[in-house]
Amino acid sequence: MHDSYWIRTMPPWTDRPSGEGSLPYDVCVVGGGAMGASTAYWLTQLGRRPLVLERNDTPGQGASGRNGGFMVQGANPVHAEAVELYGHDEARSLYRMTQVNQELAEAVVQRENIHGAYTRATKVDLAFDEREEAYLRESVTPLRHEGVDAFWVPRSEVAEFLGTGVGSHISGGLVRRDQATLHSTRFVLGIADAARRHGATFVCKSPVIEIVPRNQGWRVVTETQVYDVPQVVVAVNAWAPELLPDLEPFLTLIRGHLLLTEATDLRLSPWSINDTATYGRQVPSGQLLVGGMRSAVSDADIGQKPRAGESGLDTRPAIVDALRRVLPDILPTTEGLGVDYAWAGVMDFTPDRLPLAGPYPGREGLWLMVGFSGHGMPYSLALPRALAEACVEPERSTLPTVLNPTRFLG
Ligand SMILES: Cc1cc2nc3c(=O)[nH]c(=O)nc-3n(C[C@H](O)[C@H](O)[C@H](O)COP(=O)(O)OP(=O)(O)OC[C@H]3O[C@@H](n4cnc5c(N)ncnc54)[C@H](O)[C@@H]3O)c2cc1C
Repeated sequence: MHDSYWIRTMPPWTDRPSGEGSLPYDVCVVGGGAMGASTAYWLTQLGRRPLVLERNDTPGQGASGRNGGFMVQGANPVHAEAVELYGHDEARSLYRMTQVNQELAEAVVQRENIHGAYTRATKVDLAFDEREEAYLRESVTPLRHEGVDAFWVPRSEVAEFLGTGVGSHISGGLVRRDQATLHSTRFVLGIADAARRHGATFVCKSPVIEIVPRNQGWRVVTETQVYDVPQVVVAVNAWAPELLPDLEPFLTLIRGHLLLTEATDLRLSPWSINDTATYGRQVPSGQLLVGGMRSAVSDADIGQKPRAGESGLDTRPAIVDALRRVLPDILPTTEGLGVDYAWAGVMDFTPDRLPLAGPYPGREGLWLMVGFSGHGMPYSLALPRALAEACVEPERSTLPTVLNPTRFLG
């Protein structure tokens, strides 16, 4: 199993173990990915003392450290489809939440001196046939209504926004200027470290094996410790059913691949092709990332669970080959660019592609933040902030009802 580019270029993290046993923590956050680290950060901003328990030796080695590092605004589907699926008001409020997320990301990286983690970007969603073009064009008007600088450009003008020309089968692209990219581990570890400076405790190499109710609150059990806490936030992505088996029917595990080329002199904006779930961007070293292409295998890489104790997955040669071939097909100027390596991670899809974020029904003090369906980073500050606020003042919760776990666990 290969480590990701982000893990190979990860900032240093020194674990500072807490004291023994049950210290008076207000909330235990299980999982030190983007969601867990960010929840801990916001809890400290609300004067709380969170404990984060992470299975790996640092935060950010799960999906958050293996992803493409796109912070694409809006819900998982393109905006017009989100309106159709979730309703106008819900899709709008999700879009707004991801806009707030971006404002928070900009404010937090600046305030906490998290360098090189976040970059504003123009993104181009490419269309390769008439149906896909119609699908993308449908989003222009609703996006503009949200105040987004979005517009359609024909193939001949794509290079102006993308940085290079596209293959002859691409008809044009939806350009959105309000997007961002991340250096994934700098982002997560930066937030985790800021949370720690503000009073959060991170205990790594500490897999949680059980979460059990007590008379008041919860007992969180690791291999070596027991923590009694009033509240628990479960932010363990694809591993959630191991702790909460009721979630199993609602979380489909899907493997995601990324391939990294050699460095190039091209300077490219992030791009994607919705229909084949293929996407790409440039990383700070000048190398190109290309991801997706699950359509290359008949099972679409669904149902892939990491081996016990591992955070990533082995790569699948058919998908790596498809990624290698698709890049020059979409961006002909990349022809001949060598491949450095590929890696894979695991995503947790819900049936409606929206996260489960809110109280676990019928289990007071237990909160869920899972099911990001391959699209977590646009929520990575705003949703944890809303969840942290709900932990502190449940009656004033601003968590979107469309994300409430009752829709499946009711
Ligand atoms: C290949 C790939 C590409 C992706 N690309 C993008 C992208 O470009 N943009 C985007 O928005 N999203 C993308 N995603 C999805 C995104 O990475 C996730 O939505 C996001 O990282 C979820 O964050 P998280 O904190 O919930 O999960 P994770 O980062 O997986 O964190 C969960 C943490 O919980 C820990 N854990 C698990 N079990 C236990 C336990 N029992 N005890 C203690 N700790 C435990 C894990 O070690 C891990 O650190 C991609 C995902 C993959 C796999």
